[in-house]
Amino acid sequence: MMTRTFIRPALAVALLALLPTLGSAADCPGNPDALGTARVLTVDPAVTPAVGRKHFPVTLPLQPKEIVLTFDDGPWPGTTDAVLAALRHECVKASFFMLGRNAAAHPALAKKVLTDGHTVAYHTYSHPLLNHMSVERAEAEIDRGFAAIDQAVYGSGSHTPKTPFFRFPGFASSPALIELLTKRHITVFGADLWASDWNRMRPDHERMLVLERLAKTHGGILLFHDTQAQTAKMLPDLLRDLKRQGYRIVHVVPR
Ligand SMILES: [Zn+2]
Repeated sequence: MMTRTFIRPALAVALLALLPTLGSAADCPGNPDALGTARVLTVDPAVTPAVGRKHFPVTLPLQPKEIVLTFDDGPWPGTTDAVLAALRHECVKASFFMLGRNAAAHPALAKKVLTDGHTVAYHTYSHPLLNHMSVERAEAEIDRGFAAIDQAVYGSGSHTPKTPFFRFPGFASSPALIELLTKRHITVFGADLWASDWNRMRPDHERMLVLERLAKTHGGILLFHDTQAQTAKMLPDLLRDLKRQGYRIVHVVPR
C-alpha cells in the first residue's frame, strides 16, 4: 500500500510535465507563437457512444476553454486546401467528417487530410437525411460512405471504418440508427456549438459569431464546413483569436 501511494503522485507529476510540450511553440516550425495542439483525447465508443450537447445529454470530457475542431462535408478543392494550410500554420489538429462521394472524387486531397495528421471521420456517402429512410437503406448509405472514404484515404475500404467516428448529415439521427451504430462500436459525434456557416455571411461576421458562442459554451466540440469559402477565409484570424483568448485545442483520436 505504501509503495502505491508514493508511485501514483510521482507518475501524475511526470505525466503533467509532459503535457505542455505537446502544444509548445517550439514544436511548430516557422511559427514560434503558434496556437498548437494542447492534448490528444482518445475517444472510445464503449465509453462515449454519442457526444455533443446540441443533441445529446453528454459531451466529451473537456476542460473549460478546450475546443475540438471539426469540419464536415469535404474534402473540397480550394476550401479544404486553405483550411489545411491554416491548421498547419498553427500546428493544430482537427477532425474531418468526410462525404464518400467527395473523397472518391478527390482522393489525393482526402489523403492529405490524413498525412497532415488530422483525424479522418465519416458523414455518409452523399449526405441524405437518414431519418427519412428505412434503417436498412440508411445503414447501406453509411456503409457506402465508410468504404468510399477508406478506399480514397487508405487504399482499401470496407463496412468497418478505420476510425469509429460518425456524424449524421443535418444531425438527422433516429433512436434506431443510434442504437445500430452503438452496437457497431461507432461514436456518434454531434456538436456543442457551430459556426452556422451554412448561412452566407462575411468571414469576419462568422469569426465574431464563433467567438461569442465560445464565450457562452466555454469551448466544446465546434462544427465548421471545410466546403465553405467564408470559413476557409476567416480561419487564420480565428485561430489567432483563440490563442490570444487562451483557448486550447484538443485532438480526438480513436482508441
Ligand atoms: Zn453535412
